[in-house]
Amino acid sequence: MVELKISNLSASVEGKKILKGVDIDVKGGEIHALMGPNGAGKSTLGNVLIGHPNYVIEGGSIILDGKDLTDKTPEERARAGLFLAFQSPISIPGVKISSFLRTAYKQLHPEDKVTVTEFFNRVKEHLKLVGLDESFMSRSVNDGFSGGERKRFEILQMAILKPKIVVLDEIDSGLDVDALRLVAEEIIKYHSKEVGFLIITHYQRILKNIDPDFVHILVDGKVVRNGDKNLALKIEEEGYDWIKE
Ligand code: ADP
Ligand code: MG
Ligand code: MG
Repeated sequence: MVELKISNLSASVEGKKILKGVDIDVKGGEIHALMGPNGAGKSTLGNVLIGHPNYVIEGGSIILDGKDLTDKTPEERARAGLFLAFQSPISIPGVKISSFLRTAYKQLHPEDKVTVTEFFNRVKEHLKLVGLDESFMSRSVNDGFSGGERKRFEILQMAILKPKIVVLDEIDSGLDVDALRLVAEEIIKYHSKEVGFLIITHYQRILKNIDPDFVHILVDGKVVRNGDKNLALKIEEEGYDWIKE
């Protein structure tokens, strides 16, 4: 069974303590939304989960299917099934999207003997589904992507690489209504008993298209409220001030 257990997780960046004991449990089949005001530490949690080198874990643990990932490298976490969307703002000249995806896929699923042609056909199909042109495959990774292209590419990676736990940070930012719908459709299609989602978002925009099973509110590095989608609706109407008090 798929289960990500984030227990009493504390973390700092640049010597500043940001996360102060976060507990979140994501099981296969569940969609969790992590919401909170600006600066609460939402993106920090995402970065800590994927093992971004600037973020230092001060305490607690990250366990996926019984495997302790707390001190593991980003590559080991990805191999364990934690989704690592390629988000670097730095482009990698010369590394084409097509070979990047193929290399990543082979590392994650060495058992799949898919041929190169079959694999690229899969990629082409998904490019269409997220609204990216086929020529996208021969571009360099993150080379001059617009915000919307980066988000669509993130979803494409999810669909192709097939992780067990998907963490998406502000996937709804920079997308117009139509792009948001395509992205939400891909997420819903990928949703199954074998996959758990942690959708990080400030606004509940994406949650209009995707029903979360659980909603967590992060304020000042701590989860201060847990609830269901009604909690997200209350935030939409009343903002975060009532929680901060
Ligand atoms: P959120 O995503 O909830 O808006 P962040 O996790 O981005 O919040 O930021 C939480 C706090 O951590 C903020 O005060 C932010 O300035 C700080 N922070 C995040 N990343 C860095 C970084 N790389 N260097 C310095 N401070 C950072
Ligand atoms: Mg953020
Ligand atoms: Mg559901």
